[in-house]
Amino acid sequence: MSARLIDGKALAQQLRQDLRNRVTSLAARGTRAGLAVVLVGDDPASRVYVANKIRACDECGVQSRRHELPASTSEAEVLALVARLNADPQVHGILVQLPLPRHIDVRRVVESIDVAKDVDGFHLYNVGALVVGQAILPPCTPHGVRRLLESTGVALAGRNAVVVGASNIVGKPMAMMLLQQEATVSICHARTRDLAQYTILADVLVVAAGCPGLITGPMVKQGAIVVDVGINRLPDGRLVGDVDFDSVSRRAAWITPVPGGVGPMTVTMLIENTLHAAERCAESVAAV
Ligand code: NAD
Repeated sequence: MSARLIDGKALAQQLRQDLRNRVTSLAARGTRAGLAVVLVGDDPASRVYVANKIRACDECGVQSRRHELPASTSEAEVLALVARLNADPQVHGILVQLPLPRHIDVRRVVESIDVAKDVDGFHLYNVGALVVGQAILPPCTPHGVRRLLESTGVALAGRNAVVVGASNIVGKPMAMMLLQQEATVSICHARTRDLAQYTILADVLVVAAGCPGLITGPMVKQGAIVVDVGINRLPDGRLVGDVDFDSVSRRAAWITPVPGGVGPMTVTMLIENTLHAAERCAESVAAV
C-alpha cells in the first residue's frame, strides 16, 4: 500500500480563504479582529513561531500586535501587560509565547489571561471545557489535527485511536478530542512499555513525542491514518517528524508530511480562534 498524503498546507490555505471572508464580514459590522502576541526573551525558535503567527494574521486581515519584552522582565510586569490586554477592547485574542524564562510562573501567567481571549486554549477553564465537550477555544495543534482527520472523510466512531505523547498542549487534549468523536483512545508516553503493541492496533495514530524516527513501518497497522505532529531539527539541518515517513507510508492509508502537515494547520487554528473570539465579543456587545 502507498499512503495518500493529508496535505496540511493546502487545507490551511483553503481555510485561510474562508477566514479572510469572515474577517471582512466582521469588519463590515464594525469589529476588526485583533491578536496580541507576547514574547519574553530571545529564544530563536519562539521568534520564528511568532513571526509565522504574525504573518498568518496579515494574510487573513487580522490586526496583530507584537509585545517583545527582554528576558529580564519580571513576572509582575508580564502580568501587568496581560491585564492591560485583557482590558483592551481592540484585542480579542492574547497569546503568550511559551516557553517563558524560568523565573516566570507559566501557570500564573496563563491563568491571568481572560478566558474569552485565551486563543491558545491553555487556561484551566478552557481545558475543563474541552474535557466536558464544551470547548469554545480549543488548543490549536490538536484542533488542527482534528480538521486534518476530518479531511480524510473517515468516520472515527468505534475506531482504535492511539496518541503517542501526553503533553498538556498536544497529547492530552488530542486524546480528549478523539474520545469525543467516539474513538477508543489509548495514550502512550515515554514510560509506556512496548510502544509497538499499542501502535499496531491503531486505526488512527497521532504522534507527538519529539523523537525523530520513533514510529517505523512494522509498528503501524495496514490501512491506518497516521498524523505526525513532531517537529525535529536533525544535526544536518533537515526538519523531520517523529514518523519514519518512507516505511510508514508503505503501510498506512493516509499520512501527513513534515513539513507541510500539522504545522500550517496549528497557525491557521490560532487565527480561527482569534476570529471566533472577536465574533463572540461583537455578538455580546450587540446584545447589550
Ligand atoms: P513534550 O516534550 O511536552 O511532550 C512529549 C511527550 O512525548 C511526553 O508525554 C513524553 O512522555 C512523550 N514521549 C517522549 N519520548 C517518547 C517515546 N520514546 N515514546 C513514547 N512517548 C514519548 O512535547 P510537545 O510539546 O507535546 O511536542 C511534541 C512534538 O510535537 C515536538 O516535536 C514538538 O516540536 C511538536 N509540536 C508540533 C506542533 C506543530 O504545530 N506541528 C505544535 C506543538 C508541538
